Amino acid sequence: MPETANAEVIVVGGGLAGLSAAIYLGRAKRDTLLIDSGRSMARWEPDVQNYLGFPEGIAGDELLRRARRQARRYHVKFARDEIAAAARRKDGFRLRGKKGSYLGRRLLLATGIFHIPPDIPGLKPCLGRSMFFCKDCDGYRVQGRSIAIYGWTNETVAYALAMLFYSSCVAIVTDGRPPRWDRAHARWIREYEIPVYRKRIFGARRNGTALKALNFEGGMEARVDALFTTRGDIYLNKLAKGLGAKINREGEIVVDFDMRTTVPGLYAAGCVTPANCQMIIAAGQGATAAQGINRDLLEESLATHSLRRFRGRQLRSARVRPVVRRK
Ligand SMILES: Cc1cc2nc3c(=O)[nH]c(=O)nc-3n(C[C@H](O)[C@H](O)[C@H](O)COP(=O)(O)OP(=O)(O)OC[C@H]3O[C@@H](n4cnc5c(N)ncnc54)[C@H](O)[C@@H]3O)c2cc1C
Repeated sequence: MPETANAEVIVVGGGLAGLSAAIYLGRAKRDTLLIDSGRSMARWEPDVQNYLGFPEGIAGDELLRRARRQARRYHVKFARDEIAAAARRKDGFRLRGKKGSYLGRRLLLATGIFHIPPDIPGLKPCLGRSMFFCKDCDGYRVQGRSIAIYGWTNETVAYALAMLFYSSCVAIVTDGRPPRWDRAHARWIREYEIPVYRKRIFGARRNGTALKALNFEGGMEARVDALFTTRGDIYLNKLAKGLGAKINREGEIVVDFDMRTTVPGLYAAGCVTPANCQMIIAAGQGATAAQGINRDLLEESLATHSLRRFRGRQLRSARVRPVVRRK
């Protein structure tokens, strides 16, 4: 059995939310361990254009690399592992990973989500280049192009309407599924004259990473430069569920303003919570969670008098008053 690693705070997830939290915790002098399985969604974005402070854009994996370097500067420890289970203990949490086990007094889950890709073979090379999941991230970069929205729900219609600000050529493709949008959304489709193609899609034509066309059953081909999918997301909430935290109907971990879940000592941040799934929002939530955890640990150390013991050591061993001189 591998050794158990201990830390005051454990962060599971090394994407934008987890790394931002780790930087704040390290700078708050909290002994912090970040455990990550290395599958941040940010890796899929070659050119992040909406993150503050990078006017020329930055690749998602470079942003992650810089954030890891920044966290190391504040003595955050890292473990590459995938946590399979978590359990509560009197004094915190025990985690079991594929490679080791871990004990922490506070736990932050920043495990993210998985966007469900469209059911069209051969599109993987287009991911982040001409096939997208997020209008706020990628709408701006496909202005004036021929855009297809993949889906059959109210969200599909909302995406199509929002895309009209970027292009006059926007269509919905349902890939053979019966539409599930309500009457109001059906009315908007008619009012704004958005074409809907309902035939099954059996393939796509692309040139490298550039999508060129969608091929429909019956022999029709539609020229498409960009495909946005609205099939939904899978929330990576298994650990939170196992610990008994409240999860909403979508699968998001329910949190308060300090990113506290309904389980004492357990926090969550980033896309796995009810946030708009954006890098800057995930990073902000990570910072909020870290501040909440730091406050929580300070209050605990006052209640248990461990801060008094720490102060006692300071008083015995260090200069505790500023040097004062008579002028
Ligand atoms: C193609 C694409 C393009 C995007 N473009 C943009 C953009 O331009 N701008 C923008 O703002 N946003 C963009 N996004 C969204 C952005 O990537 C997310 O908002 C951001 O990554 C969310 O951060 P997070 O920390 O919540 O999750 P993530 O960054 O996904 O990080 C979650 C981490 O948790 C780890 N993890 C999960 N479960 C476990 C476990 N059990 N044990 C250990 N580790 C675990 C994962 O490996 C992963 O590293 C894009 C997303 C995609 C897919």
